[in-house]
Amino acid sequence: MLKTISNALSKVFRSQTTDLAEDSTPESEMITTANKRLITEDQHNISKRYLDDNALKVAYRLQDAGFEGYLVGGCIRDLLLDKKPKDFDVATDAHPEEAAELFRRGRLIGRRFKLVHVRYGRDLIEVATFRASHDSQSEDAENEHGKQCDSGMILRDNVYGTIEDDALRRDFTVNALYYCPKDHCVYDFANGYEDLKKGVLRMIGNPESRYKEDPVRMLRAARFAAKLDFTIDPASESPIRPLAPMLKRIAPARLFDEALKLLQSGHAVKSYQQLQRLELFEPLFPQVHELLQRSDLDVPLEKLIDNALKNTDRRLAQRKSVTPAFLFAAILWYPTQRLMQQLVREKKMPPLPALHEAANQVLAAQVKSTAIPRRFSTPIREIWEMQLRLPRRQGNRAHRLMEMPRFRAAYDLLLLRENSGENLNGLSQWWTDFQNANASSQDTMINGLEKTDKPRRPRRRKSNRPRQERSGNDS
Ligand code: ATP
Ligand code: MG
Repeated sequence: MLKTISNALSKVFRSQTTDLAEDSTPESEMITTANKRLITEDQHNISKRYLDDNALKVAYRLQDAGFEGYLVGGCIRDLLLDKKPKDFDVATDAHPEEAAELFRRGRLIGRRFKLVHVRYGRDLIEVATFRASHDSQSEDAENEHGKQCDSGMILRDNVYGTIEDDALRRDFTVNALYYCPKDHCVYDFANGYEDLKKGVLRMIGNPESRYKEDPVRMLRAARFAAKLDFTIDPASESPIRPLAPMLKRIAPARLFDEALKLLQSGHAVKSYQQLQRLELFEPLFPQVHELLQRSDLDVPLEKLIDNALKNTDRRLAQRKSVTPAFLFAAILWYPTQRLMQQLVREKKMPPLPALHEAANQVLAAQVKSTAIPRRFSTPIREIWEMQLRLPRRQGNRAHRLMEMPRFRAAYDLLLLRENSGENLNGLSQWWTDFQNANASSQDTMINGLEKTDKPRRPRRRKSNRPRQERSGNDS
């Protein structure tokens, strides 16, 4: 009850002291202080229809308990741009422990950044307590709630504050917009509404130190520029290239998640272009980057990546499923193939063991940048192995290959390779025709092969030993 009263009082007090500043900050100005502006319902045109019921329920529940509760961040940005938000986040002055108590389905999560997850079926609403920037805390609080390392990187971020503090610690101005379900207004503390209308991505505060605090913000800049078709404000863009190597200090599991957001959200081609332009691709895929730089490159690596990303965007636009296994198998194929060929040439290894060894080495190096979970790395290996098996179609093999679980993905990669310019003697077309053919045409296709494609292995010389019984399947 006391909490309810004190919250209500602080709200009244705050709304009296904030001034409703009119319009716009000059393009080059750095946002360092909160300047509250209200955008009313008739100005912003967010349709209530598109507001997520569960997120609204969470905000109301918080408000009914005497706390503040706003929908915030990307969901409001996307709604204002008439896009469907990916997820809904709620911001509140309730501490995580207090918020968790209010929801039967609430779960307190995180250590580095404590928050509450409220689950409604498959829907997940994230409830985060208003955070303050790290400069506003006392020395003592440094250890317990927030922590920054020498380079300025934030290691723990549990320093709580007001809504104004919270707005200023967010990344881009367009991500610092709050929607209040009670008055239906959008609260803008960082001039995000103007930037949104201009299509500008502007880092709040000093861009260089904000990237140093959390280098992942550089990847977010690339992602939002691609997703929203926004330009990055020059002052927010210029520190990115020199600071890009800082991404190497980020946990590979987090970088894997960010890589998926960049490459599997329907704007992969544009994200890739932004990553290359901002020199952020190298920290995510160092081996691919290294190969792209080589002057003696004799495989269509760039084209294959481009086609794989186009394919991913197209599938997502058609609401088809995509898997990280396929995308990573495609992006990392040429580094793997090249290493395999080197092992065959230099270590005289047979192709299949050479491929296994190359796959081990390439994946081991890649997981240092983006931690690919095992549930994806196993199919990646299988898709690669199938690249060696797909040329061998004689006898029963073609039918057996088609029944294998990775056939479809392996065939798709083969198709991409050939469409990108690798010469495989029409192998992918053969497989396309074979899948479309009826049983008797399939037989004809296989018989046609046996005349031209001699089995690779030389016939064994007749020995004096008795012939071993062969299994029916192999004949
Ligand atoms: P989307 O959900 O479309 O990927 P988003 O902006 O909602 O984009 P989230 O990762 O869902 O991104 O984060 C929600 C909000 O949290 C952001 O809009 C931003 O205000 C804040 N935020 C997220 N990550 C950071 C970060 N690294 N630094 C500062 N603020 C962040
Ligand atoms: Mg979001």
